Amino acid sequence: MPDTMPAPSPIYRFGDSRIEPHAGRYSKIELEITLRCNYQCFGCNRLVGQFDLPESDMTLEQIGRFTDDVRSLPFGLEYITVMGGEPLVHPRFDAILEMLHEELVSPGMVGRLVLCSNGLKAPTRLVRQLNVEERTASHIRHKRHANFYQSPADNGWPIKSKCHIPDVWCGIALNAWGYWPCGPGSSLARLFHWPSYARHVIPTDLSTWDYAPLCRHCVHMAHERRDNIDGFDLLPVLGQSGKQLDPSPTFAQAFAQWRDQELPSYRRY
Ligand code: SF4
Ligand code: SF4
Repeated sequence: MPDTMPAPSPIYRFGDSRIEPHAGRYSKIELEITLRCNYQCFGCNRLVGQFDLPESDMTLEQIGRFTDDVRSLPFGLEYITVMGGEPLVHPRFDAILEMLHEELVSPGMVGRLVLCSNGLKAPTRLVRQLNVEERTASHIRHKRHANFYQSPADNGWPIKSKCHIPDVWCGIALNAWGYWPCGPGSSLARLFHWPSYARHVIPTDLSTWDYAPLCRHCVHMAHERRDNIDGFDLLPVLGQSGKQLDPSPTFAQAFAQWRDQELPSYRRY
């Protein structure tokens, strides 16, 4: 077993031979500057609302380290998504934006910055001044969320052979504890107590991670072009037809374990 694999756990089966490994470069990074939020969507794939994470705010020193990391890459990035949680609740939001723009966008290492906000808080003036692309939910009640606490493996759902979130759509993720295979994968790795998925040196290639143990429990493997599988409403609309499903067994067990046991500590990035 390569040393990048998480330690085996008796309650989760690893891998899935139907899932193709990821290799090659990424072109985007999701920068989770905080995992706090001013809302609590039931299907939050960052686990907001499940755990109290006041220490999840990234510091300006960490952002400085991140800009150094990106400058050291042998390739440029298409964009960085500034997100969370809800990024606008970070008390140093403008300072972070300024650093990213000055150190990465202006010198041409990164094509542009994207802000991903839930729309409850107005963006700061700096967002427009720096031409940050806004991907803001027009109204929080119209956000659509997959039922993240449903494992395809538990439910026997058909899965895709590969998810394009890391290589095509969103890229890898960075938060206060390090780099992760993708944003949802970061949540799953933390929930399943697999701290060895975190990297403190910026990876240049997606093959640094084994995605299959995460992907087999990730709803993003199941819902492409399907809103409904076997009667499950996978993409409910909050406040309309959406309903919250009880967590599937793997998630229920992980939540219970998280709450009942002392967890491995995560070294900060
Ligand atoms: S707005 Fe986004 S970060 Fe906040 S709870 Fe909803 S999905 Fe999670
Ligand atoms: S299925 Fe989930 S864990 Fe796997 S790559 Fe996609 S988002 Fe990440």
